Amino acid sequence: MEDYPRTILEMEERFGTDAACRDYLFQLRWPEGFRCPRCGHDTAWHLGRGLHLCSGCRFQASVTAGTIFQDTRKPLRLWFRAIWYVTSQKHGMSALGLKRVLGLGSYETAWTWLHKLRHAMVRPGRDRLAGRVEIDEIYIGGVKEGKRGRGADGKALVVVAAQEDGKYIGRIRLQRVADASSASLIPAVAAIVERGSTVCTDGWTGYRPLRKHGYKHEVIRKDGTVGENVLPRVNRVTSLLKRWLLGTHHGAVQQSHLDCYLDEFTFRFNRRRSRSRGKLFYRLVQQAVAIEPIKGREIKGEPSDTGDRNM
Ligand SMILES: [Zn+2]
Repeated sequence: MEDYPRTILEMEERFGTDAACRDYLFQLRWPEGFRCPRCGHDTAWHLGRGLHLCSGCRFQASVTAGTIFQDTRKPLRLWFRAIWYVTSQKHGMSALGLKRVLGLGSYETAWTWLHKLRHAMVRPGRDRLAGRVEIDEIYIGGVKEGKRGRGADGKALVVVAAQEDGKYIGRIRLQRVADASSASLIPAVAAIVERGSTVCTDGWTGYRPLRKHGYKHEVIRKDGTVGENVLPRVNRVTSLLKRWLLGTHHGAVQQSHLDCYLDEFTFRFNRRRSRSRGKLFYRLVQQAVAIEPIKGREIKGEPSDTGDRNM
């Protein structure tokens, strides 16, 4: 059963203590009851403060170990508030916004938290798109349109995949690629679209081997210039993505962090019809306890107020 707060008041009342937050994490991490991460045994002594002593192997399991909350020195209730704000705002939050609303002492903490939460937005083993899927590549980070296959200075090339849902857009996937060659595009498509699906692209040669890889391939147009996109769903997603990067993040997205932003955008977009923002809160907490932690030093690059301004 999906159990989550509906309003900010419900959230405040329910998660006013770290013990309440830990209980919630326990529920989401072990919905069928405790299971030892080391030996799989299902009974434990509860030692308090989120610690559980496995009665099988005596391993001391913590509800936050192995999650994005591992080793945090800040109260869990502050983390829960961060998740609430990040999921309740339609367009998400910048690090500066999060720092202000939570009263965090440093920009760097806010930035690291957002980074960890974005990491949690990628559901491990998520389903691939299927049915009819529009695909195109777009450049992010430049003002000039470029010719395909050429190196694009300071720009990132991103594959945009949008599943058809009648007249509308179903789920999407975004994936960065090194270039627009078949060697880059075909593995990207294979990672995001189920084999046997119909892939609609323009006439770019990079997509030509799709049929050989088990896809039905529909060529929509025969022009090779990036930018003038007539694939309507991909086009729509692209403009929303660019607007989001410029609006919420003021274009201050460093190239090295682009993947995280793409994940966040995908998380939001694929849940845009969710009636309750509380459900997004639930989903993100659930994913936050289901994944491996990333340590501060494993995050590539440094936080920065400015980033790459032209992105
Ligand atoms: Zn055990």
